[in-house]
Amino acid sequence: MPPATKRKRGEGQWALGYREPLNKNEENKKNDDGLNVRRRIIDIYSKAGFDSIDPADLRGRMRWYGLYTQRRPGIDGGKTGALPDEELDDRYFMMRVRIDGGQLDGPQLRAIADIATTYARGTADITDRQNIQYHWIRIEDVPAIWERLESVGLSTMEACGDTPRVVIGCPLAGIAEDEVIDATPQIAEVHERYVGSPEFSNLPRKFKTAMSGCTAHCTVHEINDVAFVGTVNAAGEAGYQVFAGGGLSTNPMFAKSLGVFVRPEQAHEVWKGVISIFRDYGYRRLRHRARIKFLMADWGPERFREVLEKEYLGYELPDGPEPAAPLPRRDHVGIHRQKDGNYYVGFAPRVGRVNGELLGVIADLAERYGSGRTRTTAEQKMVILDVPEEDTESLADALAEHDLQVRPSTFRRQTMACTGIEYCKLAIVETKQRAMDLVDELEKRLPDFEQPLTVNVNGCPNACARIQVADIGLKGQLVVDENGDQVEGFQIHLGGAVGASFGKKVRGLKTTSAGLTDYVERVVRRYDEQRRDGESFAAWT
Ligand code: SF4
Repeated sequence: MPPATKRKRGEGQWALGYREPLNKNEENKKNDDGLNVRRRIIDIYSKAGFDSIDPADLRGRMRWYGLYTQRRPGIDGGKTGALPDEELDDRYFMMRVRIDGGQLDGPQLRAIADIATTYARGTADITDRQNIQYHWIRIEDVPAIWERLESVGLSTMEACGDTPRVVIGCPLAGIAEDEVIDATPQIAEVHERYVGSPEFSNLPRKFKTAMSGCTAHCTVHEINDVAFVGTVNAAGEAGYQVFAGGGLSTNPMFAKSLGVFVRPEQAHEVWKGVISIFRDYGYRRLRHRARIKFLMADWGPERFREVLEKEYLGYELPDGPEPAAPLPRRDHVGIHRQKDGNYYVGFAPRVGRVNGELLGVIADLAERYGSGRTRTTAEQKMVILDVPEEDTESLADALAEHDLQVRPSTFRRQTMACTGIEYCKLAIVETKQRAMDLVDELEKRLPDFEQPLTVNVNGCPNACARIQVADIGLKGQLVVDENGDQVEGFQIHLGGAVGASFGKKVRGLKTTSAGLTDYVERVVRRYDEQRRDGESFAAWT
């Protein structure tokens, strides 16, 4: 047993004997495992309809299968938080499909496209954790959707909820010429052994994993609960460094290196050790402190490593190399060579918004020009694999016909947006359309701007679009316009960079949604005029 924590009393840590639920979420989880809701959805709710759903399932356990009620249309942002859940809830659901490692074969992408068209009014968004999200899902259709997904090896299990969420990975795992290690087998092992296991279906809150050997660090390991990052030890062996305790939202923190070297075959048990620490020692009393980052902040990485080795692994891990410095641009957009001599083609839909028809087109193109394999990225983008060199430009042209750009502007390439008020019950402002309009307008006003620059748009103070680590982070809130009226707008955070700095919130620095484009244009122009050679936006601010 490690030395006592500073706040051991009343934090609800199971390992310290606090097994009685200290809040409603914990009580609901104790009453019934979230995984059990699947049977009720199939046997009861999908047959008897929306009104038959037990409220504890509706607003709790259905998340264990990637289902949230979406926001009832027409409720403005001023009502967010002021109305009870029943009035905000629509009778339709958002459904999240987990795509571990972002890896899709032809039949899988086709299934995703067909489901969007048949059951989701065509909607489909690529999230910044490589998932696909649908909207307008009826409870009656959920069993058929699951059947279709499962027929191609996909599922919504633990896509949301207090569970091990999707394991993100480099979209080019096993493909990139310069990767340190292919993490695909480790991602598969974690998924097969632990996703859907009752051992980890009642965590204090969500648990996000990244596993990658990508030299571009495209899985943004610094902001995951646990991350395995490819490295080579002094003996020339490829394996992983492990980071834990990263997360954004309020109280953003970067993950800390545990200083270890993990061989590939050990990765799943080290992952199991870290998630077990979270399950047993995580703070369950207050939801906003129930992330592993708070435990890491109190313990520090040395103690965390000691508990991992002594209590969970039963052996010591060797020391690993020092972590590398953070990189400024981490995507896989463009045309690049694979290790087998073929090429991959990464392209940018606008802020991750696609639809069933477009996904069908992408599946066609992936089959015509490549092997059918595609990938989603952690930047809301996609990649088509296995294209012969001589076909890459024809594919780029074919994608461009559908507004999918292989050589996008900085703004198209690096702007992200969360779901926002269109569907999200927590949202205060519109995000997706606002961000798409912003990209279009900035492309017209600043056609020659080519520096790396991230613009991330959130509909509320949460962090689904990672505003704290954007060069320009926009946090949706109500603001007062020049007439004194409350309108949609944004608090501005400047100079964030993954792994390096959190954006600075300048007091009083806000814009209305209507004034957003002018504001961003002004800041970007000033940066472009004043920056020294090679100076990043974060350094300039
Ligand atoms: Fe909803 Fe807020 Fe997340 Fe956006 S950041 S999807 S508004 S919870």
